Amino acid sequence: MNISHIEHLGIAVENLEESIKYYETVLGLKCYSIEEVVDQKVKTAFFLVGNTKIELLESTSPDGPIGKFIEKKGQGIHHIAFAVPNATDALKTAEKRGVRLVDKVSRKGAEGLDIGFLHPKSTLGVLTELCSKQE
Ligand code: ZN
Repeated sequence: MNISHIEHLGIAVENLEESIKYYETVLGLKCYSIEEVVDQKVKTAFFLVGNTKIELLESTSPDGPIGKFIEKKGQGIHHIAFAVPNATDALKTAEKRGVRLVDKVSRKGAEGLDIGFLHPKSTLGVLTELCSKQE
């Protein structure tokens, strides 16, 4: 799978603007990008912390994945994303190792990355994303 580092932590928030304020004024981080990912029904905000990013996720619809997550569990850490050389290859490797997949092949995520998710039922309850920069 060749994981190189934690690419980002995804954090579900109710209100993106208020959450950005907390990260900027309390933690002193700088939001460098806000982006809507239409097919995931989310608005995202990114912060760089060393080599790792924080991705805040606000749902744009109650029936989106983040909307449902917040309804069930409230705000908090939603997923961990590992950087790999090739997301589709890494998904295939995980499947061969008996992991249930959310995505059989990678798709387009925020920041133009190729991303795919492993199912939390197979990953000890932690929704796990694998992502790679496009070739
Ligand atoms: Zn993510």
